[in-house]
Amino acid sequence: MKQKVFGFHQDRQGDWVAELACGHTQHMRHDPPMSIRPWITSAEGRAGFIGTELNCLRCENSNEDDSTVRSYRVATAVKAACLQAAIAAYQQAKLSGLCQEGAWDLALDAIRSLDIENVLGTLPNGD
Ligand SMILES: [Zn+2]
Repeated sequence: MKQKVFGFHQDRQGDWVAELACGHTQHMRHDPPMSIRPWITSAEGRAGFIGTELNCLRCENSNEDDSTVRSYRVATAVKAACLQAAIAAYQQAKLSGLCQEGAWDLALDAIRSLDIENVLGTLPNGD
């Protein structure tokens, strides 16, 4: 099942992991000759991959019941929205010359005032 990539993080070994819209994750290693993905090693490369689709084997072979999958999606979407809101508010605050503490307050406020309805509205329906 094709799922959109909306972010990356590193696991404890430092390998890059793609975060998919379904809430599943997929390792994206650059480990020649086994797997060739030089783009994964740069921030620009990863940014260019966001929004593209990967085949999610875990969705296809899923034995998880629908409510587990749904919970994963909701949790992942909320996590992404919190991060996005906090980072945007922090960067904005620093640009307008606020001190570290002021910027941190604004980042927390952005999470507090996050529109949950709006986040849930971005999830796929009918599952
Ligand atoms: Zn999946």
